[in-house]
Amino acid sequence: MTDAAKEAPDTTGVAVSSSVLYAEACRLMPGGVNSPVRAYRAVGGIPLFLVRGAGATVWDADGGEYLDYVGSWGPLIAGHAHPAVVRGIVETAAAGSSFGAPTPLEVEMARTVTASVPSIEMLRMVSSGTEAAMSALRLARAATGRRDLLKFDGCYHGHADSLLVKAGSGMMTLAHVPGSRGAAGVPSSAGVPDEIAALTRVLPYNDAEAVRAAFQDRRQEIAAVIVEPVAGNMGVVPPAPGFLETLRDLCSAAGALLIFDEVITGFRVGRGGAQARYGVRPDLTCLGKVIGGGLPVGVYGGRRDVMQVVAPLGPAYQAGTLSGNPVAMRAGLETLRLLDDAAYQRLDELGAALADGLATVARRAGVDIVVNRVGSMLTPFFTGTPVVDAASAQRADVDRYARFFHGLLDRGVMVPPSQFEAWFVSLAHTAEDVRRTVDAARAALAA
Ligand code: PMP
Repeated sequence: MTDAAKEAPDTTGVAVSSSVLYAEACRLMPGGVNSPVRAYRAVGGIPLFLVRGAGATVWDADGGEYLDYVGSWGPLIAGHAHPAVVRGIVETAAAGSSFGAPTPLEVEMARTVTASVPSIEMLRMVSSGTEAAMSALRLARAATGRRDLLKFDGCYHGHADSLLVKAGSGMMTLAHVPGSRGAAGVPSSAGVPDEIAALTRVLPYNDAEAVRAAFQDRRQEIAAVIVEPVAGNMGVVPPAPGFLETLRDLCSAAGALLIFDEVITGFRVGRGGAQARYGVRPDLTCLGKVIGGGLPVGVYGGRRDVMQVVAPLGPAYQAGTLSGNPVAMRAGLETLRLLDDAAYQRLDELGAALADGLATVARRAGVDIVVNRVGSMLTPFFTGTPVVDAASAQRADVDRYARFFHGLLDRGVMVPPSQFEAWFVSLAHTAEDVRRTVDAARAALAA
């Protein structure tokens, strides 16, 4: 346990078991959850109801203690309840939690983001990644006067209608659950009109030639290409050399906008996100997760001339009651303050140790695993062939992953309840935590 975990107050409250809570939750909420993957449908069993987190550790309502690699699905790069973040939240909330008026903290956040991510010359704060991607797409259509969108199979950009076409994350997870509509259909969610889905063309990730061909087809109609510059929502899939550069060149030549969805990768794979890591400058960027420090935040931003199309400067409307919320800004700023070069080096070392450890114990156990990793985000795929796109990710043995998931959980390690998600290492994890995790993996694979 880290020092932060030892010092954290116990706020467990009244003990009600996860199974009792789940039964009631299922009566009150679809699947008993507020976001589908949390329901454990892909791995089976009853989802654990969490009551407390500190550092790299979480506790459930049943008193169980787990080393956590979900990290709230990415935001908690500093770990749970980091003292500086908690202090900032309390201080700011005490001075008023929301005004619906401009505040100094928004300016500080905008200054911090634009200084770290040079392609973002101007930005707009929103309250989720979904809102960021949805708004960036509307803006791209407004700025270009075009309608078509290119996206990639297995990438997830939130749940706006245009983007729920062959989407990753929960859509890919549920594709393996009998009775679900899943990723194969277009659109992949009920309720999305075919007319809207028809404007979204889906191509295989990392297939530069397919993108080139799509541009030859409809060069004048493409408003934007949206991509996770490191995919995280089909499990982690890095961009092939030259892939992002090709997108950049094709968009520039055709007058289409290149949107990097860095909701996961922003401030995660480096201070400047994936765009700094791979040296490709998008026109628009979506951020979320880490910049909110665990509170609900999203951002879209980019070229000044494009952002000037957003209301009230221009005709692309977008607004939000809680946008730029001071408590969320403060949580984000306190988190970003922790992310210096040494922090990223540490995250990279811990990520490498975990990825190497998992690959080694799998090899020794004679189990085929491919571990994809970029910095502190990684996925062990139960397959013997390289995972470079959604099709190769879907070759992974999801039943084997489900057994592995429960094997780890039984040994006090919590990882995402789906093969097609990223594991996240935080600054609160230690080398000893990683060793414990690799030991647990060894035992889980042997069982
Ligand atoms: N884009 C990406 C790349 C994401 O990973 C996510 C969420 N996992 C979203 C957008 C949507 O963000 P939110 O869940 O905050 O709406």
